[in-house]
Amino acid sequence: MTDHDVIVIGAGPAGLTAGIYAGRMRLSTLVIEMMMPGGQAAITHLIENYPGVSPLSGAELASRMQEQMESFGAVLVSDTVTGIERTGDHFTVMRGSGPTTARAVVIASGTGYRELGIPGEKEFVGRGVSYCATCDGPFYRDQEVAVVGGGNSALQEALYLTGLVTKVYLIHRRDEFRAHPVLAERVRAHEKIECICSHTVESIEGSGAGVERLNLKPVGEGEKRVLEVPGVFLFVGLKPKTEFLGDLIETNEWGFITAGEDTRTNVPGICAAGDCREKPLRQIATAVGDGATAVFAIERYLDDGEW
Ligand code: NAP
Repeated sequence: MTDHDVIVIGAGPAGLTAGIYAGRMRLSTLVIEMMMPGGQAAITHLIENYPGVSPLSGAELASRMQEQMESFGAVLVSDTVTGIERTGDHFTVMRGSGPTTARAVVIASGTGYRELGIPGEKEFVGRGVSYCATCDGPFYRDQEVAVVGGGNSALQEALYLTGLVTKVYLIHRRDEFRAHPVLAERVRAHEKIECICSHTVESIEGSGAGVERLNLKPVGEGEKRVLEVPGVFLFVGLKPKTEFLGDLIETNEWGFITAGEDTRTNVPGICAAGDCREKPLRQIATAVGDGATAVFAIERYLDDGEW
């Protein structure tokens, strides 16, 4: 007899959807989240591409998903998972408050921010270096800031910051953006954004009070530049939160779980859903699909062991 039928690790859109589907299937479901429900989506200020839902904040969407999940009986707890062990025909999930057992597991642990790894970055985290515009943007009201990156996150958050600050320097290492063309158009046309393309940040400097300047170097030809800004927001990609799995689950060279579209991992009874899975598109819409698919796979596994 296990504590639960299913344990879901992570309460981003993938984990919350798995909770909704598992709860609705009357499976006893525990969802474990170490931070706030909603994952990366929860700190996105505006979600405007989730079908059928008028633009809303990620926090609001997460809160609605959580409410819907809890209405079907799944239980959300705040805790940190440190490992999973296979014990006979069930799994033991190790967490801060002790081990908990389940017949099946959905890993929906998502991703965290990739760091640039440049001098000054670690030193000034929380004192001018930020990975979250929604959280820290208001500290720079009526000042100038820099954003680093050329993907959807960097451009979306640069646009968000224009509502608070006087100017955003957007620093990108190439002269073309990886982000969606619609975002790129908006950014290039925005009067408060100066794009500094084909440049990287060499170092971040400051004093006890915090960040004071960024030293930029050109990629190839061009001039070095110094930007006098008190804040820099880094959006240079994501890294999967899968280290706690050890060798139990197969991952690719970057640590993303190598489950297919059916979300089944190499271990029968464990599915991987959302951004932590190797996949071509990391969106709320694709995470939600994974959460539902994972519960479909797990239901069949619990019924007759099919994998
Ligand atoms: P991303 O798409 O991987 O973009 C990372 C950006 O950082 C790239 O432009 C990359 O440059 C740059 N970069 C990486 N390492 C760097 C380094 N060492 N120095 C300088 N620049 C560096 O990451 P993301 O923007 O965080 O997005 C992650 C996922 O979430 C994506 O799949 C994205 O589509 C999704 N997302 C979607 C939305 C939305 O649809 N509204 C919003 C946010 C995020 P290169 O381009 O040269 O590689």
